[in-house]
Amino acid sequence: MGNWERNVRRVTPYTPGEQPTRKDVIKLNTNECPYPPSPKVAEALAAFDAGELRLYPDPEAGMLVHALASHYGVRPEQVFVGVGSDDVLAMAFLTFFNSGRPILFPDVTYSFYEVWAALFGIPYRCPALDETFRMRREDYLVPNGGIVFPNPNAPTGLAAKLADIEAIAAGNPDSVVIVDEAYVDFGAVSALPLTERYENLLVVQTFSKSRALAGMRIGFAIGSEKLIRFLNDAKFSFNSYTMSRLACVCGKACVEDEPYFRETVGKITATRERVKKELLALGFSFPDSSANFIFARHRRVPAARLFEALRGEGIYVRYFPKPRIDDHLRITVGTDREMDCLLAFFRDYLDRERE
Ligand code: PMP
Repeated sequence: MGNWERNVRRVTPYTPGEQPTRKDVIKLNTNECPYPPSPKVAEALAAFDAGELRLYPDPEAGMLVHALASHYGVRPEQVFVGVGSDDVLAMAFLTFFNSGRPILFPDVTYSFYEVWAALFGIPYRCPALDETFRMRREDYLVPNGGIVFPNPNAPTGLAAKLADIEAIAAGNPDSVVIVDEAYVDFGAVSALPLTERYENLLVVQTFSKSRALAGMRIGFAIGSEKLIRFLNDAKFSFNSYTMSRLACVCGKACVEDEPYFRETVGKITATRERVKKELLALGFSFPDSSANFIFARHRRVPAARLFEALRGEGIYVRYFPKPRIDDHLRITVGTDREMDCLLAFFRDYLDRERE
């Protein structure tokens, strides 16, 4: 037997939420959009010539980059695209976090950050959110090798103040600061305008949530031309053809349909606000979510028990058995009908529990 296993890069992978094969499940566990993508996407798919797939796609994904640049009012040189924002974030970790000093991200946050840090051998430190799950800006105004956090945060749904984000970008001129805005469209204020002023600020967004294209895998980053050039240099040293022809065509059609986007986001946020009130009445509490999910705990019944009971009924939510958050459920905001099923289940279950 050889010793090759000694030289394996060992990592503990990120655990994504379950994608059940059963169709009759109410799926509130991975923060997808409960509505289909813009009908313009279906039109673009119908018009797509499959014969084109024999050719490699544009390595620059120019069609998509230009559509995004024009939508967000920036130059194409300020836009980087990837296979979901996970790809964009991974590339950003690889490109920008090389000082050898610990990077900073909150103790309660998107759990992929620590996986990329481990994969790339980046040291990291996780300042604790305060007892209301808020970031303390002073925790990020200390020496560091880079900073990354979601806004709104996941899984709490809490939005940071733009003034705090600006203070963090301004106070760290020697580090790249990444704001992961996967959920920003559901009610937080984007840091995009700040990228004009702070060369070290990278804003990352995704088509997976508010644009209902999780299955197509499209993410993007906007920042200074310099940041984007470095990201592209790393990407072109890794995999030139990240964005498929279909992804480019669908992404462009999607981003150009602003009325549909607004309508979808409007429906989801209206449902969220209604569900918040109903959950409160049922004895749940939660940080005030600006995202498409609610991070709720019940005053009496442990989250793990509710999670299993829901699962038994074919209602999937996310439960994280981790310190500080193992008494919470992360519930994606689905359609009104899906949320009514969830609420009806809670009403019934909590009634029975009391007996
Ligand atoms: N950032 C955060 C905070 C997320 O919750 C997710 C979704 N799991 C992502 C990034 C990645 O999403 P995607 O790769 O689908 O763009």
